[in-house]
Amino acid sequence: MSRQQVTVLGATGSIGVSTLDVIARHPSRYQVFALTGYSRMSVLAAQCRAHRPQYAVVADEVQADVLQAELLAEGLQTEVLHGADALARVAADDAVDVVMAAIVGAAGLRPTLAAVQAGKRVLLANKEALVMSGALFMEAVKASGARLLPIDSEHNAIFQCMPEHYSAGLGKAGVRRILLTASGGPFRSFTYEQLLQVTPAQACAHPNWSMGQKISVDSASMMNKGLELIEACWLFAAHPDQVEVVVHPQSVVHSLVDYVDGSVLAQLGNPDMRTPIAHALAWPERIDSGVSALDLLTTARLDFEAPDPVRFPCLRLAREAALAGGTSCALLNAANEVAVEAFLAGRVRFVDIPVIIEDTLNRLPSEAVRDLEHILQADRSAREHASSWVEANGS
Ligand code: NAD
Ligand code: MG
Repeated sequence: MSRQQVTVLGATGSIGVSTLDVIARHPSRYQVFALTGYSRMSVLAAQCRAHRPQYAVVADEVQADVLQAELLAEGLQTEVLHGADALARVAADDAVDVVMAAIVGAAGLRPTLAAVQAGKRVLLANKEALVMSGALFMEAVKASGARLLPIDSEHNAIFQCMPEHYSAGLGKAGVRRILLTASGGPFRSFTYEQLLQVTPAQACAHPNWSMGQKISVDSASMMNKGLELIEACWLFAAHPDQVEVVVHPQSVVHSLVDYVDGSVLAQLGNPDMRTPIAHALAWPERIDSGVSALDLLTTARLDFEAPDPVRFPCLRLAREAALAGGTSCALLNAANEVAVEAFLAGRVRFVDIPVIIEDTLNRLPSEAVRDLEHILQADRSAREHASSWVEANGS
């Protein structure tokens, strides 16, 4: 069997690094075709040395020249490209079998869609891409015959617990509802008064998972669960009312599927993204991921509680956007990206994040989606509106 050619979009990030760790364990199965990175060029250079890809893609020409010179001096054949078109090119190249979509945020939409349109096996970590463009994205999957496999641990768990034919709707598949678990993040038991004071460093210190900054803040605000609710609706043809969020602080049960006969199937494991990555890379086979076996006796307890909509309004905002449909989810996502960036830069408070998003959703109309350009236009408008909120009210 010839080796599968893999492009890793966002190789220098948390998911990218975990992906290359799994790939390195299976040199006879996978070969890296292209790696992309936007910052942390020394990490990308080391990854090129270790995996010898045909292409590396960086943000701009200056970065490209520096990295190309460094790799050439070491005798590496890797060709360094730059810019958004190059990202889409290495995602859709004829030689590629598998694309790991692990760029964070809206920036990942175009290359992820390019991989889908080219009919690749697409490992989807970049949830924002699907949240923004839901219907269009899923239509592209259908049209091209791409194989979409979820990397988000919850959605990967749900995928593993679903019956084979769920795309016609949950009811037909005998599924009553999806139970989406949430860790509750670092501020799960904080009072509102405490939330007024929290810093970016506290928000990025997740109790169970080590992740990029943006998703860490999303986990702390529970917007991550909101984005995941929308993601679950698209991936599993579910109505928002069929997805229930349950807070489970240990992050051992990664999600559950509740069937009409009363059976509830769950997927469990240690909180390590290499498990869903290895699952999606090898599916329907199973390969070693490097993750240690779950020790139930050490885990001992599994707790579950309801999310608190008062301290964590982001979940409600995401559910409302999911129900409204159209461009609402693109507006929600863009406003959230601006709000998170402003919080990380120390310009707004943590509690301002949902305020910025709600203000944006109240001011901008939700419209039926016409095409990709319409979605990108909604994204730009929401960014402008949220940025002006930060200018007017932030420090
Ligand atoms: P990260 O910040 O660690 O890495 C992001 C990657 O995207 C980096 O390689 C970065 O260079 C690249 N990037 C950033 N901005 C870019 C731009 N404008 N253009 C091109 N590339 C750009 O993030 P992460 O934690 O690895 O998360 C990646 C995605 O996976 C996110 O969508 C996140 O929601 C999702 N995800 C992550 C985890 C996790 O455990 N980290 C779990 C589930 C889902
Ligand atoms: Mg998740």
